Amino acid sequence: MSFAVAYLNSFGLAALLAVAFGLSLRMRLNLHAMNIAVGALFGAAAALAMQNPIPIATGVFVDPRNLFVGLSAAFLGPLGAAASLAIAAPSRIALGGAGVGAGLLAMSIAACAGLLWGYATRERDCAHPRCLLLLGAGVSSSLVATMLLPLETMLSLLLNAGPYIVAFNLIGAVLFGGLMMRERVIAHRFGQLKLQAATDPLTGLLNRRGFERELEPVIVGGESAAVLIFDLDHFKSINDVYGHSAGDEVLVAVASLLKRSLRQQDIVARFGGEEFVVVLPRTDELASQRIAERLQIAISEISVPKSTPLKQISTSVGGFWAETTFDAVTSLRHADRALYRAKKQGRNRTEFSAKVMAA
Ligand code: GH3
Ligand code: MG
Ligand code: MG
Repeated sequence: MSFAVAYLNSFGLAALLAVAFGLSLRMRLNLHAMNIAVGALFGAAAALAMQNPIPIATGVFVDPRNLFVGLSAAFLGPLGAAASLAIAAPSRIALGGAGVGAGLLAMSIAACAGLLWGYATRERDCAHPRCLLLLGAGVSSSLVATMLLPLETMLSLLLNAGPYIVAFNLIGAVLFGGLMMRERVIAHRFGQLKLQAATDPLTGLLNRRGFERELEPVIVGGESAAVLIFDLDHFKSINDVYGHSAGDEVLVAVASLLKRSLRQQDIVARFGGEEFVVVLPRTDELASQRIAERLQIAISEISVPKSTPLKQISTSVGGFWAETTFDAVTSLRHADRALYRAKKQGRNRTEFSAKVMAA
């Protein structure tokens, strides 16, 4: 009975570790720091497991410490392995006894096996039990460390506890390695969906939602910034004359021109249709105006598709520059008004307005 309870305790601990791993992936903080923190948690669980070993037979105990160290190495890499060993190894030393050397060697072997497995399966989906059994087998190879024990102790340990240790490692690797693999896949898909939700599929630029997310730090910074709205001229007639896919090609070409002409810190988004919005953080008024005009001219020089050049495409640009406290809604409204003026005054031109804070 106490054997079953102890086994279940270890499984419960492993399940908690898998949940912690999943949480760490979802938090999306610094990856290295997370690997160290979760690795330390695995090390602490290994230390706890050593304090509560599972009785197998009279005088024979096993515990899942090597499985925990192996899992941390497999899923958290060298930093996670080092963190878990940094906690588990001193705990083993503190326990003392004749098996300290063998215990430390076993943990190191488990960590190496985990690292190797993690490295070998890096690019693969390894949620299949067959693949996870390999991890369990790798962790079980830590039994080699019993070589450091006196022959009699080694044989007794291998015969009495060996099968339980191997079984525990194999089952644990399939169950908890599988759980951690699932957490990893879910976190990856979640990241992809988040990216997709913020991206315009045609041009790969930010969409309105992504734009708002990127803009937030600019607003919080409260420094000067310009917002430019580009609206392609008579775009409907491009679609009508050359077809929708030629129109799409133009949109992709404009997006790529904007993206490669601007700096890393600038925000470029497609607000649906043939309307692009650019934000230039920490840029003075004159520079913002020059950038807007330069881009407007560059767009008028695009020729797409190359095989059957379209009639000239052009864009109208409405710009607004604010000296301090960049408010997105107001700035977009001002830029939109400027755009309206540009359209009204014959298109293929840039209109600009600015707001300088009163002293
Ligand atoms: P203006 O100079 O006044 O801006 O005229 P316009 O024709 O560009 O403006 P309007 O808003 O009337 O037309 C925009 C067109 O953009 C209509 C629509 O068919 C086209 N459009 C919107 N989204 C897409 C798209 O994803 N691909 C293509 N090819 N066309 C699109
Ligand atoms: Mg439009
Ligand atoms: Mg238009």
